[in-house]
Amino acid sequence: MRYIKSPQITPNKISHIFEELVGLPSVTAVYPFRVSPSYAGLIQKQGDAIWRQCIPDVRELEDTEQCADPLAETALSPVPGLIHRYPDRVVLLVSNRCPVYCRFCMRKRHVGEGDAPLDTFALERAFEYISAHPAIRDVILSGGDPLMLEDESLGFILRRLRAIRHVSIIRIGTRMPVTLPERITPELCTLLKLFHPLYVNTHFNHPDEITLLSVRACNLLADAGIPLGNQTVLLRDVNDSVETMKELVIGLLSLRVKPYYIHQMDLVRGTGHFRTSVSTGLEIIRGLRGHVSGLAVPQYVIDLPNGKGKVPILPDICERKGNVLILRTYLGELVPYLDL
Ligand SMILES: *Cc1c(COP(=O)(O)O)cnc(C)c1O
Ligand code: SF4
Repeated sequence: MRYIKSPQITPNKISHIFEELVGLPSVTAVYPFRVSPSYAGLIQKQGDAIWRQCIPDVRELEDTEQCADPLAETALSPVPGLIHRYPDRVVLLVSNRCPVYCRFCMRKRHVGEGDAPLDTFALERAFEYISAHPAIRDVILSGGDPLMLEDESLGFILRRLRAIRHVSIIRIGTRMPVTLPERITPELCTLLKLFHPLYVNTHFNHPDEITLLSVRACNLLADAGIPLGNQTVLLRDVNDSVETMKELVIGLLSLRVKPYYIHQMDLVRGTGHFRTSVSTGLEIIRGLRGHVSGLAVPQYVIDLPNGKGKVPILPDICERKGNVLILRTYLGELVPYLDL
């Protein structure tokens, strides 16, 4: 398995541009730093939404209480690199690199430059496991970013998965349309098209990430017949307002990207300064539901610790009085509804 060569800006260059960076080397000694020129180019000023997502912050080191792997992904791995939590689907971690190391990453323990991609031996064990478990219908390639693999390596993995009769759906979770949109080439799309039904879930967090290049990347994928979804992480001082999320989900829908999840921040060590309260997330859903196309409204989910799975949560809209439900409309009106 081989990685693509992804362009990056060196920390020195960033420190040179932004003089007030404190403690960068101490943070990057623990949590690696990497940013692509195109993503760094979206920074308009220090401390903006793009900056916060990619520039190391000393608070990462101050957050020591939380667990590196709260979702127990390692414990749920029957073979290295494969997470089997739900009966019918697995996550295959094929890469531990990304063009940008997002500071809020839930796999902070795992992503890092020194690491090699899953080797062929580990991959063979994963393919064997999937082949031996006919209940597995859906395989999700994740990482790191799976599209850090060269087309040839990716093609090898996809061919092997498609050869397993009971695998009907393949999903790729990637932030490339945002972090390195030039990676989405016509050649890549021609390759991916061979493996339908193949879904891509991407990861936009902020409307400023919708650019000419990311639009082009999504268009190429959608034109290859690939259904596109988006997973957003709710991040303090990045996208924790109704206005920002509204602009994001409406923008995504116009790119043929269906907002799929808004994730409550996982309790991952080194990411505490990004966490918002759950009421913030509920407020956002309340601000979206009914106010924008239903297609644009994602599910707000908490991925429970210890691998208990994702649970969708909704604003408190329902009260029961006998067989009458009191439902709150999107305008806040309480309306009785007769149940059986
Ligand atoms: C999120 C996740 C999935 C996929 O969940 P969906 O709700 O089907 O998108 C599968 N396995 C693991 C371990 C996950 O964390
Ligand atoms: S692209 Fe995804 S896996 Fe990579 S650092 Fe960002 S959030 Fe983590």
